[in-house]
Amino acid sequence: MAEPNTPFPLTASRSEQIFPKLTSAQIARVATHGRTRTVRSGEVLVEQGDRATPFFVVISGELEGVRPTGTTETLLAIVRAGQFTGEIDVLSGRGAMARTRARQDGEIIELGREGFLNLVQTDAELSEILMRAFILRRVELLAQGIGDATVVGSIHSADTLRIKEFFTRNGHPYTYIDLERDADVQSLLDQLHVSVAETPVVICRGETVLRNPTNREIASCLGFNEAVEGTRVHDLVIVGAGPAGLASAVYGASEGLDVLVVETYSPGGQASSSSRIENYLGFPTGISGNELAARAYTQAQKFGAQMLLTTGTRLSCDRKPYEVELEDGTRIPARAIVIATGAKYSKLPIENLSRFEGAGIYYAATFVEAQLCSGEEVIVVGGGNSAGQAAVFLAQSTKHVHMLVRGPGLTDTMSKYLIRRIEQTPNLSLLIHTEVVSLKGVDHLQGVTWQNTKSGKTEEKNIAHVFVMTGANPNTGWLNGCVVLDNKGFIKTGLDLSSKELTGAHWPLTRRPYLLESSVPGIFAAGDVRGGNVKRVASAVGEGSIAISFVHQILRE
Ligand SMILES: Cc1cc2nc3c(=O)[nH]c(=O)nc-3n(C[C@H](O)[C@H](O)[C@H](O)COP(=O)(O)OP(=O)(O)OC[C@H]3O[C@@H](n4cnc5c(N)ncnc54)[C@H](O)[C@@H]3O)c2cc1C
Repeated sequence: MAEPNTPFPLTASRSEQIFPKLTSAQIARVATHGRTRTVRSGEVLVEQGDRATPFFVVISGELEGVRPTGTTETLLAIVRAGQFTGEIDVLSGRGAMARTRARQDGEIIELGREGFLNLVQTDAELSEILMRAFILRRVELLAQGIGDATVVGSIHSADTLRIKEFFTRNGHPYTYIDLERDADVQSLLDQLHVSVAETPVVICRGETVLRNPTNREIASCLGFNEAVEGTRVHDLVIVGAGPAGLASAVYGASEGLDVLVVETYSPGGQASSSSRIENYLGFPTGISGNELAARAYTQAQKFGAQMLLTTGTRLSCDRKPYEVELEDGTRIPARAIVIATGAKYSKLPIENLSRFEGAGIYYAATFVEAQLCSGEEVIVVGGGNSAGQAAVFLAQSTKHVHMLVRGPGLTDTMSKYLIRRIEQTPNLSLLIHTEVVSLKGVDHLQGVTWQNTKSGKTEEKNIAHVFVMTGANPNTGWLNGCVVLDNKGFIKTGLDLSSKELTGAHWPLTRRPYLLESSVPGIFAAGDVRGGNVKRVASAVGEGSIAISFVHQILRE
């Protein structure tokens, strides 16, 4: 094995926070949660890919973190007396990013995952130091593209973009090699026996080569789910890790519940597609949906919540414990369930739509969006009340609002008062039987073509802002008829459930459903998936956390 080179350059201003030195009093407190042991120079303490990696504090001697690549190693860090190892994977229990080895004989404190979680949950001072260091270490790995996966692809390929997004949204560092830009790429492909036509490829830990893999194949290759023991009965299973599900996970786990989250794609849900959430309490300069989700997910893990990256495909609710069936057929039993599977905004069937989402295509019309298009022409698509409200609101600050509806008018789909307001607004025009058919632009939307579906006539406009208000479809298809839904497919809860509906659903208790409780006792709905919910990050977070107080009550019943 070649000698490792010098450590990769850390952002200098942060290196003290990334590798802080604990005081002797702090080290003594860590020691009460683990055991003290000796190490010999060259001893490997953690191998790359190991699950449930321990946490080490160096008392004497030195440890090193290295990234193995074939027969060579890259030195990532040297951990000296008073410093500690680890990063986010200690919390998640997922495969270790690096190999940890003793550089010298010495003495260390070793904590298993349970001991580590106990420490960060009970010692506020150490929790702050350790969690900050872990998060910054992960940020550094992400920024420098140092991880246990390599993606080889092209910037022009949609699958490459999908794979890169999957890694990014899951906060998983990876190295990216571009077919068009990196000189040595052909020799790497030859070595792997991969042709350009088979790209993008993902190389897991320098060993397994996946040709244009699905997200599920990547998760399985990197062992995202292996640390989770899914099949025992959990206090609470949360399906969906958008803002509502993450809030339930943080509150549930911090209040002592055994929590498992099931999420198809990545933590964050729809909020992850927002580049800057400006209206979430406490973030006056805004926060990206991804960052909010990453913080919430780390917080949930700190309290012991676990997450399976897979899809809930069926709910069984005829007897307790209830069961969530996963796409591979595994059944996860639970005493209580929070359904937080959100909704998908109906999108325009246009090929390059996703390129402009958040950059000219919007699904909300708040003051934030209104400021982006002040004094300009805008388009509102949709004929329902949300479209009407958006159109009237935007007309106050924009030059002109073109309202496009597919049908013959608004009378069947919109409240009368809104129709009147639309008629009385001079800078608002209604185009019936009209659809957007194409979008153009580079980084931001620059032009829109619409078409009259009756005459076939098209019109091209230099308009840079389109508000899509064509409704949202709830992700409730997997619920297997378990809970009562409203006429749009959203879950009915609490007082919205009529006595007739409860009788029809064989509600077995003398009490009525709690707030956020569905027509099945102990199965709750929170966030966008719930009928009557206000479709905002803050309300999803609020509902996710409120649901937990009722989960405690039903666990006592
Ligand atoms: C582009 C965009 C910008 C937005 N901007 C703002 C904003 O600035 N401010 C604001 O307040 N709100 C904003 N919103 C609205 C806000 O994001 C949502 O109201 C909020 O995310 C709802 O949270 P949720 O947890 O209920 O559902 P979601 O965010 O929809 O999350 C649901 C999660 O469940 C997962 N899931 C679905 N089905 C399954 C299944 N069967 N098994 C496992 N997992 C499943 C999904 O993958 C997803 O991660 C925006 C929405 C969009 C689309």
